[in-house]
This record gives sequence, structure tokens and C-alpha cells, in this order.
Amino acid sequence: MDTFKPIKQYYAELQNQGLTDLAAISEKLYDYQKKQQELGLFSQNGFTKKGSDSAATIIGAFNVPEQDCILWCINHYLGLNRSQSVIDKSCAAIRQYGTGAGTSAMSGGMSSLHKEIESRIGKLMDKEAVLLFPTGYTANLGCLSILPGKNDIILFDRECHASMIDGIKLSGKKWIPFDHNSVEDLEDKIAKFTGKYENILVVLESAYSMSGDLAPLKEICALKSKYRFYMYVDEAHTFGIYGKDGAGYCAELGVSSDVDFIVSTLSKATASIGGFVATQAKYIPLIMWGANSYIFQACLSPGDAATILASLDEIKNNPDLVKSLHEKNKYMRDRLTRMGFDLGKSQSPIIPIYISDVQTLMTFNRELFSRGIFSVSVVYPAVKPKEGRIRLILNTSHTKTQIDKTVEILSELAEKYNIISKQNVSTDAQPTFNDYLLALTAKQEELASAEK
Ligand code: PMP
Repeated sequence: MDTFKPIKQYYAELQNQGLTDLAAISEKLYDYQKKQQELGLFSQNGFTKKGSDSAATIIGAFNVPEQDCILWCINHYLGLNRSQSVIDKSCAAIRQYGTGAGTSAMSGGMSSLHKEIESRIGKLMDKEAVLLFPTGYTANLGCLSILPGKNDIILFDRECHASMIDGIKLSGKKWIPFDHNSVEDLEDKIAKFTGKYENILVVLESAYSMSGDLAPLKEICALKSKYRFYMYVDEAHTFGIYGKDGAGYCAELGVSSDVDFIVSTLSKATASIGGFVATQAKYIPLIMWGANSYIFQACLSPGDAATILASLDEIKNNPDLVKSLHEKNKYMRDRLTRMGFDLGKSQSPIIPIYISDVQTLMTFNRELFSRGIFSVSVVYPAVKPKEGRIRLILNTSHTKTQIDKTVEILSELAEKYNIISKQNVSTDAQPTFNDYLLALTAKQEELASAEK
């Protein structure tokens, strides 16, 4: 049995073979995953013994009981989850406000802390109104499920995050992907659908979570002078680390006012949990009354809310935090590039090391782990089957010594596994979300052209 396939790929194969019985298919997947675990190929069930920092003790990954590692898989870009001031404010809030929120925003679950987050983010992003969601995932799910109307079409970047795709699918409206970061393809599609649909909603990310490349936001916003469309940008990987006081990449490029809906998670730079949409006040009732994930989901807890406020304070009062992240990003990228790694078009503190062959990827990552470096292998369906990678997420709390050690071990292993010469940075300008999505896309394209 070939044990190196990503489980979801194996699942698709079983379905293609006609196996549909729930218990039978589940047993096969169970056995397959168990086998991968026993062979020490499986990293996805690893967890930290005492929470995350730039280094941590990992339990259970690759079938190893316990291993001390430098950690490269956590999105706390500014390391604020370990800031004493943030922790103190969060603890103080729990003492004052209690633990859980107990219910949803519309049933009275918000406290003055939650409301303060909305007004602070509104001011920071120069938007009239902000709606706070319990997570970034459900912010996208809720907003995108309700924004498009029945005569509308959604155009989204092929690399958009699963939460956006799920929201788009949930809307049940027409949608078509455009080539990743291609202003040309987007413009062609906007031109093609202008007049055929009442509203066009363009959906993208400011920095892409699997590839670390930044969106051509200025160029896309410039299309607004020629065509009428709405823009929706997810700033999950830029909020807090780009723009003045962490206002994000739209703010850094000066295009916030052209972007109708700016969404972000609060689980990354602000070291908590939560999500938001920042927009004009007129859109709030539509989203509030339309997004089930807003109406029917309990609010983030007061401790989480206080963590966000305290993190925003840190970002504003200590600009060296963000500066240091970008300096380290440059330093690490320069070193890796000098050693021969092709980092694709990535720029943000997400650094992908591409290894196209899944077996090599898993074995490489296991050996990396045995040398004290931990990151998960990113495989299908998060990326295309042949675009597997090890994703390194840089954090301000990583020290130069940790960066140097990681780069040196990566380089040693890259030589051993011959992955530098076999680098698989896609020359295909259209990395897709997954095969399943593409199959649906073909259907949507058919539908759309049938309507012309
Ligand atoms: N959008 C993007 C681009 C993301 O990368 C993520 C999380 N990785 C989310 C949304 C979801 O955010 P959360 O995990 O906070 O729900």
C-alpha cells in the first residue's frame, strides 16, 4: 500500500472507485491514517505541551512522544501571546468580566470590551462600522453567504482561503475564480460580466496564506475607474503587521477607501480569536441580519476580547515589534535565497519551501523534526497535489540563532534530499484551490456562459 498520499486524496480515490458505504470508507481512512502514524509520517496530530512560543515541546507528531523544537507553524506574527502586558490585561479582564460570553452578539453576549474592539478597529481602518465575529472563518462564511444577491456574480482569486470559498458556496450565487493575482484575467472577467450581472463582487486576500505572496491591490483597485464592482479583501495575514499601527495592507497602499469590505481574523497578529468586517455603516444591517454565523454563534470570550485590545495597544505603542518582524523576514529570505532555495513569489512572513513529491515532503519534514525544527507539511487539499510544501511562519519572537539554525538544517537536508534542484515552484500562473473546486468551477463557467 502506498502510504504517502494525503488522506483527502486517498479519500477521493476511494470514492472514485465507487466505495460509498459510510462505515466501509471510514474504516479504510482510519486504517490508512493509523498506518501513516505508525510509520512516523504523520505530523498533523502534533500538539504543544505548554502552548506555543518560538520554541516548544511537541507531543505526538511523527509518532514521537515528546520533542523540543523551534516552532514554525504558528501565526502569532508578533509573539504577543507571550507578552506579559497582554497576558496581564487578559487575566484582569477575566477577573472583571468572567470567562465565556454565554451567547451571541444579538442575544446580549457582547460586553463593553467587544464594543471597544469594534470602535477601535473602525478608527484604525478608517471605516464607518465594524462587526465583530467569533472567528475569522465565520466572518468570511457569514459575510460571503449574504453579500451577493440573486442577479450577482462573485469573482474570486483561485488561492482564496477555504473560509471564503465556503461562504461563496453557501451563498448559492454564481461564482467564477480568476487566475491567482492576475489583474489581466480579473479585468477580462469583469469586462465580460459587466452588464450581464447586476453587481460584481471581487473577492481576494491581501497576502495568501499558503504562498505568502501579496495581492496587486493597487492595480485591482484602479480597475474601479473603468468598471463598477465591489471589493472584498481578507487581511488575515496582513492585519497588525502592515500599515500604520497595523491597519493592514490596504491601508499601507492607501486603497482602503476603494475596498468596500475589509475582513480579518484576530487570531494571528493579535494573538487571540475572533474576526471582523470593516465597511460602511449602510452594509451592517444586511450582514447582521443575514449572516447566520453572526446571529447564531456565541461571541468570543471577554478574555479573548481583552487580548485583542491589549495587542492593538502593543502594536501602536511599540512599532519596533513590526519593524523587527520585517527585518527578520528579509534576513531569513536572503539567507535561504543565497543557499539556493526558490521561495516563489512569497514576500510576507510566510515562507514556503516547495517539495513536489509527497513522499519526499513527508520524509524531509520528519527528519527536520528529528533535528528540532517543527512545521506541518502542507498537502492537498490545502494546495494542488503537486504543490506540497513546508510552510515556515516567521514570528518576531524567533531569534537570529533560531533562524540561523533552521536555515542551516534546511540547507543540509535540501542537499541530502536533492530538493533544491528539484524545486517545484509552479510556473503555472494558476494554482488552484483543489480539484473538487475546479470540477465545480467548470460547471459554474458553463452556467455563466449559458446565460449570456
Ligand atoms: N482567512 C484566512 C486568509 C486565513 O488564513 C484564516 C486562518 N488560517 C482564516 C481566514 C480563518 O481565521 P480563523 O482561524 O481565525 O478562524
